[in-house]
Amino acid sequence: TDVILSVKNLKRHFDMGKGKTLKAVDGISFDILRGETFGLVGESGCGKSTAGRTILGLYNKTDGEVLYDGKSVHDMTDKERQRFLKEMQMIFQDPYASLNPRSTVYEIIAEPMQIHGMFKTQKEMRQRVIELLEDVGLNRDHANRYPHEFSGGQRQRIGIARSLALDPEFIIADEPISALDVSVQAQVVKLLQRLQKEKGLTYLFIAHDLSMVKYISSRIGVMYLGHMVELTTSSQLYDKPLHPYTEALLSAIPIPDPDIEESRERILLEGELPSPIDPPSGCVFRTRCPYAMSICADVKPNWLEKEEGHFVACHLHDPEMMKRSDAVKVAV
Ligand code: SF4
Ligand code: MG
Repeated sequence: TDVILSVKNLKRHFDMGKGKTLKAVDGISFDILRGETFGLVGESGCGKSTAGRTILGLYNKTDGEVLYDGKSVHDMTDKERQRFLKEMQMIFQDPYASLNPRSTVYEIIAEPMQIHGMFKTQKEMRQRVIELLEDVGLNRDHANRYPHEFSGGQRQRIGIARSLALDPEFIIADEPISALDVSVQAQVVKLLQRLQKEKGLTYLFIAHDLSMVKYISSRIGVMYLGHMVELTTSSQLYDKPLHPYTEALLSAIPIPDPDIEESRERILLEGELPSPIDPPSGCVFRTRCPYAMSICADVKPNWLEKEEGHFVACHLHDPEMMKRSDAVKVAV
């Protein structure tokens, strides 16, 4: 297997002043294989966007490492960094906010190519922009128009065309469909899948729920409050979730197959996501976990590989921890 991105114990903390620290990302590890779609899922505020930005090197890391093609993203020479910024691109949730309203579609898509000096003549550049528009299901007539003249779905297509301009290998898609109508979501997902095939792209697909990601991702990492709590293949996560938080995320999505609904215990999450400035001790999920035990307040769960490639951080799945006398359910 060919690992393209390796994230090792990555931390990104923010100094909030007055001695307080926001631990947005607090020690996550995963590998992404070349050509796959890796889903990164969790509620808003869990640190997944910060993780995406830190991976791209837009944020410094606090600790740990991000290796792209074996090279540390936070420790590149200017030349390596310039190359890396062509190979890795980002698509954002709100295409409107990320497109300059005063630029034409042509200017928006051409800009990264101008910055990187990709073409000598205007004619070549124009040709390439039209190709990119066609790649995303738009056409040359759209080139001289402005973002506000387009629907949300079309604007996201423009954002995607721009992200493809430098012929990247890897795209971080940060909730690219969350702001779109449900009917449009599937179209954009299909487009991303087609482009992946045609161009051999690798995706890190960030989402706040599992409804779409489980169909498009080969593997999924579930984040909660800056931590990775479970990681496995999409089908394994769906069929045999191990972490109580994953069960809760799965309970929240409508299940088309009534037989599955019967057998799946519904877990509804109570309470708010705690603040990452003052996270719970021990297991960060314990304040909302229906199975919380005494041990969960005192001991941080280990990151265990339960089956090949299926990782979870929960004492319930750690036989050593379950032998302890404080591995007893907390009375509610
Ligand atoms: Fe729940 Fe404890 Fe497992 Fe955390 S370690 S998910 S609190 S049972
Ligand atoms: Mg976000």
